[in-house]
Amino acid sequence: MRAEIISIGTEILLGEILDTNAQYIAARLPALGIDLYWMTQVGDNVDRLREALRRAWERSDLILTTGGLGPTEDDLTREAIAATLDEPLSVDSALEAQVRALFASRGIVMPERNVKQAALIASARAIANPHGTAPGWWVEREGRILVAMPGPPAEMERMWEKEVAPRLAKLATGGVIVSRTLKTVGIGEGGVDEMVSPLLGSTNPSVAVYAKADGVHLRITAKAASRDEAQRLIAPMEEQARGILGNAIWGADDETLEAVVGAMLQERGLSVATMESCTGGLLASTITDVAGSSSYFKGGFVAYTAEMKIALGVDEELIRRHGVVSQEVALDMARAARERLGADLGIGVTGVAGPEPLEDKPVGTVHIALDDGRAPQAISYAFAQSRAAIKRRAVTTALALLRRAVLGR
Ligand code: ATP
Repeated sequence: MRAEIISIGTEILLGEILDTNAQYIAARLPALGIDLYWMTQVGDNVDRLREALRRAWERSDLILTTGGLGPTEDDLTREAIAATLDEPLSVDSALEAQVRALFASRGIVMPERNVKQAALIASARAIANPHGTAPGWWVEREGRILVAMPGPPAEMERMWEKEVAPRLAKLATGGVIVSRTLKTVGIGEGGVDEMVSPLLGSTNPSVAVYAKADGVHLRITAKAASRDEAQRLIAPMEEQARGILGNAIWGADDETLEAVVGAMLQERGLSVATMESCTGGLLASTITDVAGSSSYFKGGFVAYTAEMKIALGVDEELIRRHGVVSQEVALDMARAARERLGADLGIGVTGVAGPEPLEDKPVGTVHIALDDGRAPQAISYAFAQSRAAIKRRAVTTALALLRRAVLGR
């Protein structure tokens, strides 16, 4: 099945929004065994939209559109599909009643403009959209399928998961592509590549190494007639990779480092506290991205200036002697955070996020320390990148250090 995605919206062409809908859909087609041949982006212009739809209808078996289903005048997707297929639009009374009921349930009288959201053509069936007012369209004609979904990602994703993907899964027959991603920290991209080099020659499953913000990923991909069969191909390869990379693997697929480390802390009944300088609270923010983190995260300080660090209990003498960006100060920040907040573990982060160097320390210098009251440890490195990337890398490293300390207990 040859598929094509059409993302509709002038905002995309103006660079105001990223076309994440197309990326979302594209990432999910291989598992359904659907080959994606084209991705098109087009503005809210009925002639160009018709042109894009006409070409798609000629060359693709499955056309997936997002956007332009709203009530306003520049929401033209329905009109353009109707014109392309030369079928008249008419308001479906049952669908109109549903849209009206949706407004009534929110205590709003439906603006008459919204009636157009209840319009259909003969070849189209409405797809429910409980998160919004615009139903989608499922069009079947001449052996082709066209699915029109709303633009807002939350609405589109729900419609995809609950309505569209299950129907497509029944139709597609071309075999499936399944991937398993193993996520590592502590070894560089080249190191991982070298370690798993005996596996890299395999073709099904294939093995590839990627450097990502949260460490180095190893992706194992198999193509087979069914999901189960693909998983049977992946399993022995995963076992070999785990044998080689061992503890460097912290998680798989959609797992996040903060959630994995959080679960480890919770399991062992340990608590953590932070004192951050160059990351400005990003570490605490990342830790608290995990629901239930209050059971192990005591809290954190953003101690940006030297005075603030001293006020929170960091040794002034250490700062004078080594400078605020030093391993000694990071270690003392970790200790102070742990003691002040009565946690089992304290983390201190200090560094130079740039773009100017600090105390003659180059941009990207970062010291991260962990204090458990027994054997404090620290990691220091210099990696000149953008401010945002320096902060993100520091957070990943801090979480990796925390994981290492917890694993050792
Ligand atoms: P609505 O009923 O809300 O009007 P719609 O189907 O008409 O939905 P659009 O008006 O085209 O959708 O887009 C609504 C919003 O959805 C956009 O402002 C944008 O924030 C988001 N959006 C639209 N298309 C995309 C896309 N391809 N990727 C990511 N976000 C998108």
